[in-house]
Amino acid sequence: MFTAFLIKYAEIGIKGKNRYLFEDALVSQISHALKKCEGKFLVRKTQGRIFVDAQTEFDFDEVVEHLKLVFGISGICPVVYVEDEGFEKLCETVVDYMKEVYPDPNKTFKVQARRARKNYPKDSMEINMDMGEAILNAIPEMKVDVHNPDITLNIEVREMIYIYSEIIPGPGGMPVGTGGKAMLLLSGGIDSPVAGYMISKRGVKIDAVYFHAPPYTSERAKQKVVDLAKIVSKYTGPIRLHVINFTDIQLYIHEKCPHEELTIIMRRYMMRIAEHLAKESDCQGLITGESIGQVASQTMASLISTNEVCELPVYRPLIAFDKQDIVDISEKIGTYETSILPFEDCCTIFVAKHPVTKPNVNIIRRHEHNLDEKIDELVKIALETDEIIIAE
Ligand code: ATP
Ligand code: MG
Repeated sequence: MFTAFLIKYAEIGIKGKNRYLFEDALVSQISHALKKCEGKFLVRKTQGRIFVDAQTEFDFDEVVEHLKLVFGISGICPVVYVEDEGFEKLCETVVDYMKEVYPDPNKTFKVQARRARKNYPKDSMEINMDMGEAILNAIPEMKVDVHNPDITLNIEVREMIYIYSEIIPGPGGMPVGTGGKAMLLLSGGIDSPVAGYMISKRGVKIDAVYFHAPPYTSERAKQKVVDLAKIVSKYTGPIRLHVINFTDIQLYIHEKCPHEELTIIMRRYMMRIAEHLAKESDCQGLITGESIGQVASQTMASLISTNEVCELPVYRPLIAFDKQDIVDISEKIGTYETSILPFEDCCTIFVAKHPVTKPNVNIIRRHEHNLDEKIDELVKIALETDEIIIAE
């Protein structure tokens, strides 16, 4: 029955002079998402609204599933377009619509008409009244409730007449690309994919980096990260994933530094390398999945040490989240099942039995000094052997 969708967007509406930029980005993200669906679609912007018109047959559920992934959409309204063939004919069509969409008639409704084409013979109030009456006559079980109806039946009179009443919730947020770009430190864990999803939801495009330590971390651990990037890319669009071979850096830190400081020093090198890659590709920040107190390297004291090695802002959207709340989001976005696969990432390989929980930055810096120029050489090699995978 439905041939189109009206796309509702929330926050974009308040962006003043830049509003068109957000709308254009949303149109382009929607077009991109629909490329994966069977059928042809026209995505168009008119008078502060976005419509998706199906130009061929399409699978309703498939299209809705894909639209639900597009950040910036707050609601998806399936629409029926009809030609204007007089008010009586319109009443018949609307009654059929109500019967089909609401097989259980024990509902309250109100008609909300909008006469965008001013030469239509009835004004909005008249349409509301007369259409309401036609529905009540045809479906006596339905009742009118103008204050808190179960169904708000929208009738918009334009060149064609648009009928819609259902709002399927979208993901909210901002269209990707309107908020710049950031580099996500993506491990195989539960947290970092969620962190990437959350920042991207605010309109930020995502690049990612994974630190791989073969043979200590397996090929399957790497594949798991690629798979996670692919799942996240359903929301964010294609992700350029850097795979950095971290083995020699890690072994060298292991050799030269006190073992209880290993994780912190290793994390400092991850941040340095991530920042280097970020600056190279015009990213304006780093993203991690850290949360206060979750592990020794994520206490406030430890975060001072990992934070101080980079200039770019580090976005930690999960900083105040409990683990269960993070798990809930990862289940919702579809990364959880992959995240809990048992392949170790390199953070878990060389961990000390008793890592420091209150590292002193000055002491960490002093111990890092033991690493001399050789570490710079190793970082250089790691950057030169960067493998780039496009996850989509
Ligand atoms: P996650 O579930 O995201 O792996 P975690 O609880 O295991 O997080 P850590 O291992 O301390 O926490 O890592 C903290 C953050 O550092 C991660 O959220 C991620 O952003 C980044 N990180 C850790 N290991 C790697 C890695 N091997 N490659 C890329 N980023 C990493
Ligand atoms: Mg981890």
